[in-house]
Amino acid sequence: MSGIVENIKRIQTELPQGVTLVAVSKFHPIEALKEAYDCGQRIFAESRAQELMQKVDKMPADTVWHFIGHLQTNKVKAVLPHVAMIQSVDSEKLLTAINAEARKEERRIDVLLELHVAQEETKFGFSVEDCERLVNSGTLAEMTGVRVCGVMGMATNTDDDGEIRREFQAIRSVFDRLKGGCMKENVDFSVVSMGMSDDYPLAIMEKTTMVRLGSCIFGPRQY
Ligand SMILES: *Cc1c(COP(=O)(O)O)cnc(C)c1O
Repeated sequence: MSGIVENIKRIQTELPQGVTLVAVSKFHPIEALKEAYDCGQRIFAESRAQELMQKVDKMPADTVWHFIGHLQTNKVKAVLPHVAMIQSVDSEKLLTAINAEARKEERRIDVLLELHVAQEETKFGFSVEDCERLVNSGTLAEMTGVRVCGVMGMATNTDDDGEIRREFQAIRSVFDRLKGGCMKENVDFSVVSMGMSDDYPLAIMEKTTMVRLGSCIFGPRQY
């Protein structure tokens, strides 16, 4: 398990100023997370509700949790109290459920809208058109339980760097358009979350502001 600290330190030197490192800890044991925490890492991300809930209590209280997996609406209530941000809002139905639950708890939760730009059919998310339509719609203005902070996306799993960069450009350009254009009180575009272990150097070239790294910090996942 050693090497986590070295990995984080090396990655930190590679990240430009203003790029936030999110440590994707899914399928990794709590000891690995603690090692990362002890060298200063605070933001961790999980992709399954149950695993998140099991880990929350075992980590220090100032650990910041993001949710990055496909979230079913019936799990929103359980997840919400534990997370600072849900990066994987992939439908209007889910956003509506998050908003309703947040309002019940009298809080406002940060969310990212997940964009589907990759070639794979299995990946969740909004099309570029649907995302822009939603952000510009009146419905969103009334969702005072959420603050839409930007977009999240994944590139196709391919060796073709050109394709990956084009997909990151597509995500970034949605971000740029919506950042300037939307004047709603609960929309505050500051985050474009893109870049995973295999492609984050390309995401940096395309001006990511948040990378989500798992295996290059913790090693291969043990399923
Ligand atoms: C698992 C996962 C990651 C991290 O993947 P690595 O290849 O291990 O860096 C990032 N983002 C999402 C949405 C994930 O599900």
